[in-house]
Amino acid sequence: MQSKCSHLENPVCRNECEVGGADGGRRIMNLCPLCGSEAVRELNLSHTVIWKCRANNCGLEFASPQLEDHELAHVYSTLYYPATADSRPVKRREATPDSVLRQVLSQLEASLGTLKGLRLLDYGCGRGPLSRIAFDFGLAPVGIEPDPVARSIAAGRVGMPVYSSLAELCSKRPPAKFELIILWNVIEHLRRPWLELQEIRRFLRPTGRLLLCTMNTSCLRARIERGRWMSYEDPTHFYYFNRRSLERVLGSGGFQRVHEWKPKIHYPHHGTFRHCFYDVSTVFGVSDGLYYLCSTAAEDA
Ligand SMILES: [Zn+2]
Repeated sequence: MQSKCSHLENPVCRNECEVGGADGGRRIMNLCPLCGSEAVRELNLSHTVIWKCRANNCGLEFASPQLEDHELAHVYSTLYYPATADSRPVKRREATPDSVLRQVLSQLEASLGTLKGLRLLDYGCGRGPLSRIAFDFGLAPVGIEPDPVARSIAAGRVGMPVYSSLAELCSKRPPAKFELIILWNVIEHLRRPWLELQEIRRFLRPTGRLLLCTMNTSCLRARIERGRWMSYEDPTHFYYFNRRSLERVLGSGGFQRVHEWKPKIHYPHHGTFRHCFYDVSTVFGVSDGLYYLCSTAAEDA
């Protein structure tokens, strides 16, 4: 393949490149920031273009360009964490109901054993809804949240330590290690999730677990709604995952044991039809959410 773009050497290149196709014509492509393979345009959105890696063993979907830091801060402060008296999000954000978080932790406890006394790192904790419920299970949460408004609310309402970054956590609590780390609908917001996972991994105890959930690009809603799907629409999302790409990212982050986890969740606002639809979707692997339990150990301790 002929190329006029030196960025092809760089697997984290964000620039579009013009390449000569098999027919000698030119088409716009991009490079997968995870594996460096060719990516093709999947969707044109108002705030970005979504690309999909063509490598069979990757298939990562990503936004390029990503919003700049100042644009991102503006979107978070207007859509997610407005500095108003109640700081209620403008749109439907952070919408996981408490009852769902409770079901997840309860089923996690059934799977792993008691959670009581375990140290939890709630990475990207937002206003702290997950940690608030984690307290009820006897967990001792610590939050990481870059947004100052959300961080202040989480610290005040939940009464836990919340840091702006892992670097700040490290500077204040050098020996901190956690038995459980949770990224609840967070990985899609990270600029380079495989690099951040490598950092996060350093804070996990050898026998600890990472629980991660994100939206599934193979779900029926994504296939039907396309550019109107809420995960694609959200300008703070930089990546969109299916099982294959998520497992690859987790492996690149250094997690050697990566297992899909399928909690049975009952959404309180679902009627009978949607409840049945959700159950069937889960059976066929096309439900909205992906949940993974991961560890760094090659074998379970
Ligand atoms: Zn790729």
